[in-house]
Amino acid sequence: MRQDKLLIPTLREAPADAEALSHKLLLRGGYIRQLAAGVYTYLPLGWRVLKKVSEIVREEMDRAGAQELLMPAMQPAELWRESGRYDVYGPELIRLKDRHDREFALGPTHEEVITTVVRNDVYSYRKLPMTLYQIQTKYRDERRPRFGLLRGREFMMKDAYSFDTDWEGLDKNYWNMYHAYERIFTRCGLNFRAVEADAGSIGGEGGTHEFMALAEIGEDTIVSSVNGDYAANLEKAVAGPRVRKDTGFDPGTAPAVEELHTPGASTIQQLTDSLGIQADQLVKTMLYVVDGKTIAVLVRGDHEVNEVKLKNLLGAENVRLAEYAEAAAAGAVTGFAGPVGLNIPIIVDEDVAVPAAWIVGANKADYHLKNVVLGRDFSAERTGDVRNVTEDDVCPVTGGPLQFHRGIEVGHVFKLGTKYSEKLGAKFLDPSGKEQPMIMGCYGIGVSRILSAVTEQRGDEAGGMVWPAEITPYQVHLILISVKDTAQVELAEAIYTRLQEAGVEVLFDDRDERAGVKFKDADLIGVPLRVTVGKQAGEGLVEFKNRSTGENGVLNVDQVAEEIAKFYTK
Ligand code: ATP
Ligand code: MG
Repeated sequence: MRQDKLLIPTLREAPADAEALSHKLLLRGGYIRQLAAGVYTYLPLGWRVLKKVSEIVREEMDRAGAQELLMPAMQPAELWRESGRYDVYGPELIRLKDRHDREFALGPTHEEVITTVVRNDVYSYRKLPMTLYQIQTKYRDERRPRFGLLRGREFMMKDAYSFDTDWEGLDKNYWNMYHAYERIFTRCGLNFRAVEADAGSIGGEGGTHEFMALAEIGEDTIVSSVNGDYAANLEKAVAGPRVRKDTGFDPGTAPAVEELHTPGASTIQQLTDSLGIQADQLVKTMLYVVDGKTIAVLVRGDHEVNEVKLKNLLGAENVRLAEYAEAAAAGAVTGFAGPVGLNIPIIVDEDVAVPAAWIVGANKADYHLKNVVLGRDFSAERTGDVRNVTEDDVCPVTGGPLQFHRGIEVGHVFKLGTKYSEKLGAKFLDPSGKEQPMIMGCYGIGVSRILSAVTEQRGDEAGGMVWPAEITPYQVHLILISVKDTAQVELAEAIYTRLQEAGVEVLFDDRDERAGVKFKDADLIGVPLRVTVGKQAGEGLVEFKNRSTGENGVLNVDQVAEEIAKFYTK
């Protein structure tokens, strides 16, 4: 394509509200434009990349035996009431009414619709297993839409759903999708890891994995073994067992509780500084509201509560930190909260439920208590693992060290089981003629989010972007230095024709612009191979540059054609 006529509105500077590298580069490279918070236009370059990503997804889904369909974004509220999600989904669900006052939602996901499609048209085990997928626009009124395409309110997702007659079938389908995802993200040029994730109350063993693109901007924390296969999302990660030193602690002879005057020491740091102790000698008392009930959660001073583990331990729907007034109503003083004398349920982390005397808050401003013993001075309603693992923990599989990375969730595979098929009545007749609920799995990919994830990994604020071979908007950027130099024009036109005839996607910068402007734009656009027609055009020579390796040289036209073919047939 001739750049002169294309809509590629590059920017010297990114708008001030773009914080993430990928957001800045996609705006500056002329890939996307914002219409409203979290709502974007894909400009011609952005759309080309998106189509290539979608095509990779399609090829791999088809190869895995899935069938493509397309479901509506507009979904009757009735259907969401049937699954029980209309009320629990919350403000992320965009709701609207038609002219007859009938309620609708814009689909944030399609379990309800796909289950309806299948329940109405699939009856027999003979049609199963079946996997259906679509690439479609999703709507989620995210609390914090940000970072461009990373967290949009209108975005593109691939969602697939599998239907099986038994759990073994689901397991097979699940791993089939898992491997298709590995191929998709590899082809998209992402540096990624598959990690175990939290499956909540549904989903059996090995119930869910998230695919994470490694990047500092990512909102997820990945915990992995330095020398093993273990990798999990922080929400899910568990610590391996550690040998505890026998401190000889005997609760029977432990000294009595004593009050400590700790003026102004309402944080762990202030307390350890003022008492000259380590954070692991303290217990933190956090107040939560779990399904409407206030409870206290105790973790060691150097640990953090893991709300997902807490929720799972209690089999709860909703977990949130208590507000100041809710804590006060339970008798706790914020900043000085402690378990002694509280008459609400107390949940104790395993690392607090060890033989020890702790320092805890006194529920009295500026005071703590020491020598506090579990079982003597307060009691636990439940004990369990309710904390995040830390870098001091060991791998649960190898016992070796753990490392932490940040990741962007680009894909998610999940064993749903019978949750939706039972609620929405998706049943089949087994060979004996008995009705059974279908066993389902669901599998998502953030198709538009991939553009941002790749840009985070491949971009650089000063140097611009370099796209991976399979998803670059064009394969070669041909730059004509001077439109006034006949030899240059003739050679550039000849190369353009020849490459196009060979089926190469060429972006031809034929604009009447200064060379500096053209190179700056080319860096921002990010095509991996660049052919520059300049001073040596008269001798039939051009500059060839591989921007991912930085290699460059002066070549003739045949050599250029060869290099291009080599790069794209790897
Ligand atoms: P997140 O934790 O990032 O909100 P999610 O768990 O809500 O993701 P799923 O419901 O599993 O996501 O959706 C499938 C995929 O869709 C995700 O793996 C992610 O890649 C993508 N996705 C989810 N929300 C957004 C969004 N707001 N903008 C862009 N992509 C998204
Ligand atoms: Mg979400």
